Amino acid sequence: MTPARTRVAVVGAGIGGAACARWMADAGLAVEVFDKSRGVGGRMSTRRATWIATDGTERLSHFDHGATGFTAHAPEFIRFVEQAAGDGLLSRWAPRVAPNSDAPPDASGLWVPTPDMPTLSRALLADLPLHTGCTVEALRRTNAGWTLEGRGSTIGEAFAAVVVAMPLPQAAVLVRPHQAEWAQRAEAVGMLPGWVLMGVSDESAATSEWDLAWPVSGPVASVVRNDAKPGREPVRGLAHWVVHATPEWSQTHLESPAAEVQAALQGALTAWLGHSLAWHHAVVHRWRYASVHASVPRPAHAGAPSAVVTKDGCWWDSRTGLGVSADALGGAGVEGAWYSARALADHITDQPPGSQTPCYA
Ligand SMILES: Cc1cc2nc3c(=O)[nH]c(=O)nc-3n(C[C@H](O)[C@H](O)[C@H](O)COP(=O)(O)OP(=O)(O)OC[C@H]3O[C@@H](n4cnc5c(N)ncnc54)[C@H](O)[C@@H]3O)c2cc1C
Repeated sequence: MTPARTRVAVVGAGIGGAACARWMADAGLAVEVFDKSRGVGGRMSTRRATWIATDGTERLSHFDHGATGFTAHAPEFIRFVEQAAGDGLLSRWAPRVAPNSDAPPDASGLWVPTPDMPTLSRALLADLPLHTGCTVEALRRTNAGWTLEGRGSTIGEAFAAVVVAMPLPQAAVLVRPHQAEWAQRAEAVGMLPGWVLMGVSDESAATSEWDLAWPVSGPVASVVRNDAKPGREPVRGLAHWVVHATPEWSQTHLESPAAEVQAALQGALTAWLGHSLAWHHAVVHRWRYASVHASVPRPAHAGAPSAVVTKDGCWWDSRTGLGVSADALGGAGVEGAWYSARALADHITDQPPGSQTPCYA
């Protein structure tokens, strides 16, 4: 039987939770993963949608409605990405950028999981115990270790440590009773919302000339031809769109009805294209916490020895075995989430839960 002190629960199966779980499992810890969604991947996600075509047949479409792809800058992350690409989990995408776009943030190319966005998290979690559709509403600490609770009952118990891997404002709810200061800091970190329009239209000659656009002004931040991404299957005569609203517009319309948001974004796309589209299917999704507004600064100096690490890409309390990883702690975006997860996994494996050994951040 696995000794209780080596059991770690990871709450959140996005890229951060999945990567952290993988490293800890590879280091010999008994890891169990919990996520409230039906699948894994978190904000690296792909939506399946069925719709009825004009000939009456049912069609199935896929939309990457979270991150479109990501960039890699740090050597360690580049190594991870290149290995994943070698394993067939990622492809490099150099999209054709629409000529009337604003200057793209990084047009040299994006890494895209194939054939869908959750592929990477799925592969990292492959052989680990995973509980999906499982919302953790509270964490409780007893003499026997950590207990995970949801819907008034126990979801898991006797964990030596818990990793909370999700947007900081959501993490704050779970850690508040145990680390009030973390919760306060987590809530102070600005996360930006994002409304996303997903749709299928007829393809016109004008819209088949590019894959990605950054409109210069208006409510639309970016327009993606989802079917042009590597590993996705284009359907002749149809265009699959993912349209991201700007954070500012999304904030203003955060509580607007979905139908209004959909009409506004379809209208904005039409206005930017300069011609209307024949839509077959459209739906919107709201991300309340899409991306990082201001990340928590990385450490500039080594602090005093402490069992509570709060300044090098993650938060870890080795006395109680509570840890937080998040994109905002590691910088931002997918690379930030991965960096934070790496930092936390290193701390947990170097300084196991329950140890009183000081940790130098
Ligand atoms: C629209 C959009 C566009 C983006 N574009 C880019 C981009 O171009 N480049 C880039 O690098 N990044 C982009 N990002 C950000 C990127 O997707 C995230 O930074 C990254 O995926 C975060 O990973 P994570 O594992 O930290 O968090 P998440 O992916 O959010 O994972 C957290 C997981 O925790 C689960 N969870 C939350 N609360 C609970 C609970 N109480 N109980 C159980 N489970 C819970 C969630 O279901 C989720 O699966 C974008 C995000 C969005 C939404």
